[in-house]
This record gives sequence, C-alpha cells and structure tokens, in this order.
Amino acid sequence: MKHFFALTTGLTMALSAADRPNILFIFSDDHAPNAISCYPGGLFDDIAPTPGIDRIAKEGMRFDRSYCTNAICGPSRASILTGQHSHLNGFIDNESSYFDGLQTAFPNLLRNAGYTTAMIGKWHLHSNPVGFDYWEVLPGQGAYYNPDFIQMDNKRKKFPGHCNDLVTEKGLAWLKQAADSNKPFMAMVQYKAPHRNWAPAFRHLNTFDDIEMPEPETLFDDYSNRSSVLKEHAMGIQGHMSWSHDMKFQGPNLFPSHFTGGHKDHQLNRLSEEDQKTYVAAYNDENQKFITDMRDGKLDQKAITKWKYQRYIKDYLRVIRSMDEGITKILKHLDDTGLAKNTIVIYSSDQGFYLGEHGWYDKRWMFEESLMMPFVVRWPGKIKPGSVSQAMIQNIDYGPTFLDLAGAEIPASMQGKSLVPLFKTSGEAPTDWRDSIYYRYSGERTHNVAAHDGVRTTEHKLFWVPKTKEYQLFDMKKDPQEMKSVHKDPAYTNVFAGMKKELDDARKKYRVHSAIIGQPKDQDWWKKRHAAMNQKAKKPHDLLFIGDSITQGWEGSGKGTWDKFYGNRKTLNLGISGDRTEHVIWRLDNGNLKNQKKAKVAVIMIGTNNTGHKLQDPTEVKDGIGRIISTVRARCPQAKILLLGIFPRGVNPDDPKRKNNVEINELVSKFHNGERIHYLNISDKFLTKEGVLTKEIMPDALHPKQKGYEIWAEAIEPKLKELGL
Ligand code: CA
Repeated sequence: MKHFFALTTGLTMALSAADRPNILFIFSDDHAPNAISCYPGGLFDDIAPTPGIDRIAKEGMRFDRSYCTNAICGPSRASILTGQHSHLNGFIDNESSYFDGLQTAFPNLLRNAGYTTAMIGKWHLHSNPVGFDYWEVLPGQGAYYNPDFIQMDNKRKKFPGHCNDLVTEKGLAWLKQAADSNKPFMAMVQYKAPHRNWAPAFRHLNTFDDIEMPEPETLFDDYSNRSSVLKEHAMGIQGHMSWSHDMKFQGPNLFPSHFTGGHKDHQLNRLSEEDQKTYVAAYNDENQKFITDMRDGKLDQKAITKWKYQRYIKDYLRVIRSMDEGITKILKHLDDTGLAKNTIVIYSSDQGFYLGEHGWYDKRWMFEESLMMPFVVRWPGKIKPGSVSQAMIQNIDYGPTFLDLAGAEIPASMQGKSLVPLFKTSGEAPTDWRDSIYYRYSGERTHNVAAHDGVRTTEHKLFWVPKTKEYQLFDMKKDPQEMKSVHKDPAYTNVFAGMKKELDDARKKYRVHSAIIGQPKDQDWWKKRHAAMNQKAKKPHDLLFIGDSITQGWEGSGKGTWDKFYGNRKTLNLGISGDRTEHVIWRLDNGNLKNQKKAKVAVIMIGTNNTGHKLQDPTEVKDGIGRIISTVRARCPQAKILLLGIFPRGVNPDDPKRKNNVEINELVSKFHNGERIHYLNISDKFLTKEGVLTKEIMPDALHPKQKGYEIWAEAIEPKLKELGL
C-alpha cells in the first residue's frame, strides 16, 4: 500500500512539474524602496543604483503599494511563511517570540505539492526552519564577516568571506544541484544586508568616499503636530548612533554626549589581524578628521548629525552594493542555464527603513518609509515587462501566491490573497481586491517605539497609539511625508470617522481581539507569582500544568492530591488565578517556559475566565487557546500537549457561562491530532447524571474542592501514562 502511494504521488509530480514554475524568492533585511533605483522618489538612484534588482522590475513588475504587517525582522518573516498577521502566527516581536514551525506554513505545503524547497541565509525565527528539503541559516541576526551558518545537523560552521557573497554562492550552489531534479523548486535566498551594523564587503569599504550624499528633507524633523510618542524614540541619527558598532570608530568613546557607547563593533572580532587593519584603515582618515574637528570645536550639533548621516548612509548603500552584485550574478546563472524561462523571481525585503527621514534610522513605525516593502517580480511570458502595479499588497500574500503558482490549495488559515491574478493583468487588481491594509506593531524595549496599530488606504492612514490613547490621521496625498496629523482638523471629520470604521473592520476581519493579544496583568501579586514561576522554570520539568485559578488551586484545595500524584514527578504549576488566555500567552512568551525544552507533557486548561469576564465569543477564546498550544509546541519541542476541555461552571446545564464553555470545548476539540496534541474532556466526571455541578465538588460552581482535584488527577492519569510520563 505504502509503495503504491509513493508511486502514484511520484507520477502526479512528474506529469505536472513542467507546467509549474520554479520560485526563486530573493529576500533581504531592512532594504527601503528609497534605496532601490527602480523605485521612484529615492535620493540615491544615480549615486548608488541597484541594477540587479532593477533588472527584475524592468523584465517584470514593480509593486508600488507593497506593505508589511509588522515592521520588524522576525515578524515579517513569520507573516510571509504563515500568511497570517503576527498576533495569529504568534511571532509578534523579536524579543519575546519563538516561531512554531509546525503551524500551517507554505514551505511544507509546497513540498506536499511536489516542490523541492530550500532556505539559505537569514532566518531569524529562533526555531529551526521546517518544511525545507535543504536549509542553511545564519544564527539570529548573523554576522557580516566570516559568518557562521547553522547546518541541518544543528551544528554551526564558520565560512570565510562576506555574508552577502556567501549567501549568493550558497544560493547558486543549491540552484545548480536543483536543476538536476525533475521537480520544480522553491528557493529562498535571504540576505542579512542591509541590516545594522552595515559592514561592507571589503571591495566596497571605500565606495562613495568622495561623494556627499543628499539628505532627506525631514532629517531634522522636530516631531511637532503629531503624537508625543514620536519624540520618545531611541532610533535617531542624532542621539542613538553608537560610537563603534554603528559609526566604526575604534577605541574608547571620545564624545559620550554625542555617541552611545554600549555597542562594540562585533564585526571586528570576526576578522583576522590583517583584515582588522584593512577595515580600521578604511575609516581612519575620516574618523581622525572628525575627531580633530570636534576637538577644535568646529562642529555644532547639526554638523555632527550630518556627519553621522553620511557615515550611516554610505555604509548602508555599500552593503546593498555587494548584495545587488549577487542578485545580478544569480540572474545571469538563470540565463546561462535556461532556468530563467520557467522561474519566477521575486525580490523583496522584510520591511523598509528610515534613511534619515524623520531623523531616524531603523523601522517599527507605521510611517511610510518602514511600512513599505520593495516587491518586484519577473515571470517570463506571463508578466508584462516593465509593468507597475498600484494594488495594495502585503507580506501575508506571499504564501498564497506561491501555493497558487504551485497549483496547491491555499489553506483557510492564510489571511492573504494570491497575487497571481495581478501578475496576469499587468498589475490591475480584481474588483474584490482589498481597499486597505492592516498593520500592528506590538512594541519592544529596543528603540522605544510605542505599540500601535492602524490601517492605510490609498489616500489616508490612521493609527491608534494605546499608550497615549490617541489617533494619528494622515492625508497621504497632501502630506506624503506624514508631518501633520489631521485627526483634530474639522475638515477631516468625515474622513476620520470613515477611517475609524475601516480600522474597526480590519481588526474584525483579521481576528484582532483580546483573547489572542498577549497581555500581562498590572497587579503586584500577579507579577510576583509570574516572577516566582520564571524562577522555578529555570530548572527543567517533565510535567507542566498551564492555566488559571483552577490550576493554581493545586497549591490549595488540591495540595494533598498533587503531592500524591505529582510530588515526585518534576511537575511545574503554571496557573495564576483570574488569568484569561491573553495572560497565559504573555507569560509563556516571557519566561514561564524558558528551560522547558525537555518537558514530556503539558496539561493545558484555560478559558473559563474569558467566559466569566465577558462571555467572550467562543471562536475568539478558541484563537487564544490555539495560540497557547502553538507556543507550547514550539518552546517544548518534545512535549505532548494534553488539552483539557474547560471544566463545567454554573450549577445547571442551562447556565449561560456553562454553555459558553461547552461551545469553546467543541471548537478546541478540533485541535486534537493524536500526535502532539491530545484533547480530553473530563467534564462529565464532575457532574451528576442530570448535569448538575454540586457543592461537594465545586462549592462556588467554578473552583474544585479537594474531591474535585481527586477526580481530575484520576481522570487524566491513564492519559499521562499513555503520553509517556
Ligand atoms: Ca528587518
């Protein structure tokens, strides 16, 4: 039977392979469209052109309204893989999130559809890639010089050379061997460039030395007429460039009031002694002149910022140069081998970047410069060369697009849409295409940008800042640089109302609701218990109980039973009274599972407070529970998950809260897959034949008494044993 299946599958692939294009997805990190010469409006089109990327646009299509869901590295990548916004795929930020590779994502689906898949270069999702026949990725951010790559056996290997050149070479090597296969391929060639700290290939260390780079008009933005949170940023060219890491000075920080000193230039440590000398020498003349001018008092604040801008932007453009050379080389390889004809080539970057606009470097904001992603695509014979699309596209569309190209089904979980219809109509969007895109940034400590979410239409942009409880509204036609929020301008009353509705609708459409947005509680006792659990979580445990007061109650009414059943089994109680799904989501991403990689079983029972708090819609609670399962699956890669139906509450079966829990249970029972996830509903064991919850078991019709805990322990014991405990 097994052989027969393999044979027929193989046959299907062989028959359809020729009709389906290869997909080469070239991706970079922090590359603003303003630094790509085929995009209009950039300052560097003539000084620092990008002929490799431009070639893709010239022979294919450029998208001018291409946006990310969340302008930081990991989240953009996770949105691409899953076709979902960050709050649903669980990778909301680079600091706390950990990607669950077992969730529905396009690489595995493409592989199931007969594609060979490869991932080479920057990955940055903490967990190892899943769904690839071949992968070789940079650890975390990766290094520019002589970088390590994590190999498929999980070992790190150091390679000599510049990261851009290595990604190009590794990509080419893989493409060469993939050509021998009769399967179509999907290859992700992902550069680290031009991410901070912008360390150029040696051949470009002095490129642009004699050029004065043009400055953006808003380099000295004073942030007036917009939210006060703009001023709180820590991503300014004036105030937040580090002496060594960013500005390439060596030795102690001579001007600590002008440069941050926290960063060492790590790139230097990776170079040989001889190469260190070359690297230092490349910047030395300019650096010495700057130091002398500073000591002579020749430079005022403005001049210093201008100097920093020049240093920053030149290095930024230098690292792009060797990447673009690599892309040119890859395109030539496709020409030389004839692969070009049946290979779709896409170039994009995880989000845009500030090239001094608003006085910034970095990203995060929903302002245009970081919201935008470049997106150019070539598909010979299908996409009209030189076409430009004004359709609003987003990174959640990539997965559906790749699956569509492969003739595979696009799963309902994906929130994006296939771009294939747009490819075939010179970029013209179908009539039912989206009118706006939704954006959500959750906030991180790094760079101190306040959390916000919003919508952008072709004409306007609205975002909401929870921290200061204020909206920002921009007229993108009259004020494309977003220098003045018009939310209080009476002339925009109708627009403002319309945009608020657009934002509400988008939140509903993309399932943004309280049950799934991780949230800590503000009470001291809660923070203390969370911290105490994190302390305990430093030691590995075999069995985890995750939940709310009912789980916490193992330390109260359930103590005797706990000692009897779990006292000798390395068990960790991760229950906090009053917690809803959102609190558990936050805790699991903030230390509760820190060292639980070897946990064998995690018992999850959560959701009754979502019901009790506001009789929350069961589908929302299901989303929250799904996120918790996904997080545990990723962070405890060996653990079997025992998902318990929420215990009954309310005395009688017709109690509205009881009914809500029953509905949630029906929905979450579908998470059961018999592999990592096992659903078990023991509700009946607490009830009389008539469905009544007695005082003997739960006096308040919510929390079990000692007898209730005995019932619980006995009911799950056989399952725990079955799951390997
Ligand atoms: Ca990035």
